[in-house]
Amino acid sequence: MSDTTFDILRARQDTPGCEQVLHFNNAGAALMPNRVLDAVTGHLRLEAEIGGYEAAESAHDAVEHVYDAISQLIGSQRDEIAIIENATRAWDMAFYSLSFKPGDRILTSIAEYASNYIAFLQIAQRTSATVEAIPNDQHGQVSVEALQRMIDERVKLIAITHVPTNGGLVNPAMEIGKIARQANILYLLDACQSVGQMPLNVQVIGCDMLSATGRKYLRGPRGTGFLYVRRDLIEQLEPPFLDLHAATWVTKDRYEIRADARRFENWETNYAGKIGLGVAVDYALAWGLEDIWTRVSHLASTLRTRLSDIPQVQVHDLGVQKCGIVTFTVAERDPLEIGYKLAGQKMNVSVSATASTRLDMEQRGLASVVRASVHYYNSEEEIERFCDFVSRIG
Ligand SMILES: *Cc1c(COP(=O)(O)O)cnc(C)c1O
Repeated sequence: MSDTTFDILRARQDTPGCEQVLHFNNAGAALMPNRVLDAVTGHLRLEAEIGGYEAAESAHDAVEHVYDAISQLIGSQRDEIAIIENATRAWDMAFYSLSFKPGDRILTSIAEYASNYIAFLQIAQRTSATVEAIPNDQHGQVSVEALQRMIDERVKLIAITHVPTNGGLVNPAMEIGKIARQANILYLLDACQSVGQMPLNVQVIGCDMLSATGRKYLRGPRGTGFLYVRRDLIEQLEPPFLDLHAATWVTKDRYEIRADARRFENWETNYAGKIGLGVAVDYALAWGLEDIWTRVSHLASTLRTRLSDIPQVQVHDLGVQKCGIVTFTVAERDPLEIGYKLAGQKMNVSVSATASTRLDMEQRGLASVVRASVHYYNSEEEIERFCDFVSRIG
């Protein structure tokens, strides 16, 4: 499908925020479509009117549907999905279920997200396992050849970020999956920025575990996320926390952990958010992930080209195939200052600082960058307006 057939008008009409702001902060939190907003507020209203437990009971089918919707989105089975309050906790529930001993190696990416890396460091300190970043290739993405050379029997986990928080890079998740499968090493993929932005299938990628969030490219409500764990791995993983939802207290001295991925969930949850997440996934599926990806990558590439035309602007995105996250700096300007100026024009961006992806930022000598992340509902007119303003700042 060519980009011109994308019904941009409908996408914008479905999105109340489009009338208020120029929103290039989709990697932070995308604008919710009406349908998601209505599902969330509708359920909250129902809770107020008939009671929280009673509302959950009456929304039972919508809640269960969330697992089917996510499974359709990523090519899993419904019992392989846990719905968790954000991507970080989802990732943590997988990572902290693994056990490491001295000398075990964890291989990760240069562009790894801070929360993941902090967890690696904590486990390395506790267990004397080591964490090592796989070098990048000449395009700035994980070098599949370097990874191949690093493999030995001590490698216990390959945990990489698919699309980093601080740029347009898309790491070669599938090629990494092939190496993980061949070597029989567990593979945990942080797909927080890629889910909802591009087609993604866990069977094709070959990952064992995958974490994602609701509010970014999926356009779901805040405080939602999910974890995928491959069926035959679930029962080998003991979650770091258990409660009466994850396990059942069967006799005075004994509990049994559930057999499905919901062992990584906990009992109390934001039902309105969860229902809204399901609606957001259905909505993305209705647009089609191929079409979303075509549109998002086209818009981002237009934005990169237009920004590069401004003499004092430098665009920083790495990788062979680039996604909807566009990062740049303006000569002699602090990215925070750029961010404030844009905010004054109701143009939303965010600023990525060193500490969120330290290895990558230090390697590239970048202290911070402006992050302008586009979604399919953004327009070419917005790109022009944005670049026009940026060119006048610099
Ligand atoms: C945002 C982000 C996360 C964390 O997601 P939360 O839902 O905020 O926990 C993890 N990894 C990457 C690459 C991210 O961009």
